[in-house]
Amino acid sequence: MQPKFCAQCGNALEARVVQDHRVRPVCPACGWIVYLNPPIAAGVIATRADGKIILVLRGENPGKGLWGLPTGFMEIDETVEDAARRECLEETGLTVELEGLLGVWSYHHIEKQSAGVLVLYRARVIGGEPRAGSDTVEAKFFARAEITDAMLAFETHRDALNQWGMLNDQCAKGIG
Ligand SMILES: [Zn+2]
Repeated sequence: MQPKFCAQCGNALEARVVQDHRVRPVCPACGWIVYLNPPIAAGVIATRADGKIILVLRGENPGKGLWGLPTGFMEIDETVEDAARRECLEETGLTVELEGLLGVWSYHHIEKQSAGVLVLYRARVIGGEPRAGSDTVEAKFFARAEITDAMLAFETHRDALNQWGMLNDQCAKGIG
């Protein structure tokens, strides 16, 4: 979302070409330049002992009525790992231990004029019982084979689950 007013003096902002040759919102009164940078979201693909993955049913848009991985935006005083564990606990009621970085995705919501970076970790459930969180309707475990593209809210989550599946296949081959 483009800001309309200067955070320094409250004047209306104008779109101007600035020093680095990009068009940015600029305050004509005090010269404040707005740099719009993508926020960072963190989350997990968390499995329990039987290999099933926890997903959350989304109660809010985007993706209302569809399933997603537990993810959310980092707070200013957190590490990415802290944010991933906290979001999982808030959205599913489950405590997890991170097992490693799965990947980093850039995403764009054209209709919302927003963008972000999603960092996902592989994780193992170590405590708690699944329950819905503040912006989720349900938290439920699924076998990987039960999760279809159509039931997922976000392209990044589809991609991440496919990548996770390939990684697991490789590990299974490595052991066998
Ligand atoms: Zn200003």
